[in-house]
Amino acid sequence: MAKKQFKAESKRLLDLMINSIYTNKEIFLRELISNASDAVDKLAYRALTDDKVGIKREDFAIHITPDKENRTLTVSDNGIGMKKEELEENLGVIAKSGSFAFKNEVKGEENKQDNIDIIGQFGVGFYSAFMVSDKVTVISKAYGEDTAYKWESSGADGYTVTECEKENFGTDVIMHIKEDNQDEDYTKYLEEYQLRMLIKKYSDYIHYPIKMEVTKNRKVENSDGEDKEPVYESYKEEETLNSMVPLWHRNKKDITQEEYDNFYKEKFYDYENPICHIHLSTEGVVSYEALIYIPSKMPYDYFTKEYKKGLQLYSSGVMIMDKCEDLVPEHFRFIKGVVDSQDLSLNISREMLQQDRQLKAISSSLEKKIKRELSKMLENEREKYEQFFKNFGLQLKYGTVNQYGQNKELLKDLLLFYSSTQQKMVTLEEYASRMKEEQKYVYYACGETVTKIDSLPQVESIRDKGYEILYLTDDVDEFVMQILHDVNGKEIKSVNNDDAVEDKTNDEKIKKETEENRSLLDFLKESLKDKVKDVVISKKLKSHPVCLSSEGNITLEMEKYFSQLQKNSEVKAERVLEINASHPMFETLTNAYNNDKDRAGKIAEVLYNQALLIAGFPIENPTEYADLVCELLK
Ligand code: ADP
Repeated sequence: MAKKQFKAESKRLLDLMINSIYTNKEIFLRELISNASDAVDKLAYRALTDDKVGIKREDFAIHITPDKENRTLTVSDNGIGMKKEELEENLGVIAKSGSFAFKNEVKGEENKQDNIDIIGQFGVGFYSAFMVSDKVTVISKAYGEDTAYKWESSGADGYTVTECEKENFGTDVIMHIKEDNQDEDYTKYLEEYQLRMLIKKYSDYIHYPIKMEVTKNRKVENSDGEDKEPVYESYKEEETLNSMVPLWHRNKKDITQEEYDNFYKEKFYDYENPICHIHLSTEGVVSYEALIYIPSKMPYDYFTKEYKKGLQLYSSGVMIMDKCEDLVPEHFRFIKGVVDSQDLSLNISREMLQQDRQLKAISSSLEKKIKRELSKMLENEREKYEQFFKNFGLQLKYGTVNQYGQNKELLKDLLLFYSSTQQKMVTLEEYASRMKEEQKYVYYACGETVTKIDSLPQVESIRDKGYEILYLTDDVDEFVMQILHDVNGKEIKSVNNDDAVEDKTNDEKIKKETEENRSLLDFLKESLKDKVKDVVISKKLKSHPVCLSSEGNITLEMEKYFSQLQKNSEVKAERVLEINASHPMFETLTNAYNNDKDRAGKIAEVLYNQALLIAGFPIENPTEYADLVCELLK
């Protein structure tokens, strides 16, 4: 009988399957099981309205039969089956709408690996059988028909359809498994344990039982008397390999905390319980169910490029993607979990664009839910929240800053900072609620550690006024403050800022001192030429002689941040050396200026270096600095 040819697109796909370099060949089983499950779904649906179907829900099943002798693996279902034309239509050509999209994807040969990944993620259904088989036989009898048909193909050279015998309706897909070769062990797909593992991995939540005859051992009576070794015999027994009801499908109130925790630990290979879970069932633009977890520890590779964000994506109980990145907003990239949506197609036979939009809708819905859960934790379980923040707070801060603060409204209430007065982590809202009546600004100071910040010269005068200061120790903090700009309309200001404290009398005094010391300041600026933009009498210093601040938009902390990112970073703050005119040091400086300019220049150098050290910068030439100090001490 003449072989029929596959349609052009199908042939392409088939070629790809047969010569697949795709490493994840094992997904073929998932594909066939999900086809079987769809077929059963169709008949089960019909049974709801048509008494003649006469099959009870509990009798629907999918059978897996490995046969090592004949090297076949069979997937059988008692679903709707296919008529002759359907066998031709369905298996001779891949679904129309999707084929176009797929063809375009496959064209770009240069990024073949990426294209191949699409196979794994969205599935190509039936054809994937050819990744592991050199011949596929499909025997099917459609519900309500008398005749069964056999579709058979050994690959690209075409297929045949012939009449055959089959007792019950449904479909058997018989794969003749390829011989092993150097690169690939195909025999494993005939092993019980391997099949069991694959079903558990990909098809655990298919809602019909997936059954297989498995080998078991039992003790048998030993006729030789009691003190003999026990004797075992092996026997075959049918076993259901999938658990069928996914945890996320079950009713929240029937699930124990332990079940939630165990599911997380098993699925995401963590030793520790998660810090929280969110179980969602949502109807909307896209309906979905989700079970989201936040780990209680930061994964060791979290801030490396090895760490991949993502949620497991299911379509009606079938896993279609292990790590779907698009579901996870960048600022919540620490979440783990599963999303299940009926609205997503398992196949590429739907427009990819459509899928994209659906994933985005789910992602933005998840974002809101996660935010709400974290806010709740912050409000009701402070200690737990602080533990969470220790792990992932930095991520939230990056999220606040990223994309020019696009997500700052979402994230700002979730941020915690160390407070100078409370001596613990506080929210911006809490800070604002404690502000003194006359206090104009929300203050912050940056540094390496809380202790170091606490002893910064600039901090002193603000602290003495009784104002709370946020002590910031992360690189990104200063950017966070700039992006946030204000808290309920109260501007956020660095203690380095000149108008951080408003004090008219002090302002007058400084102005006067500046005028009186004009020529000294000019001299200092001249002698520190390239190092500073300006030398000024400080408004903010109280008991300390000097400090460093900056002019313009780039602050000292930003300079530090960029120099950490990149060794010879071009981002430099314009430095200003601030001197305290009320400090005894100032008198020494003035005297030197009047009597010995050379010495005054050296003192300026030392003061500048001290300011650098206090601000947390390395000094350019430590030896020179040390020598200079010794010389002045003489
Ligand atoms: P998809 O499932 O994406 O449509 P497949 O290539 O996997 O693509 O299958 C093509 C079609 O063949 C299915 O849509 C279905 O109509 C039919 N089919 C496949 N397997 C079975 C089966 N076990 N029982 C009944 N119909 C099936």
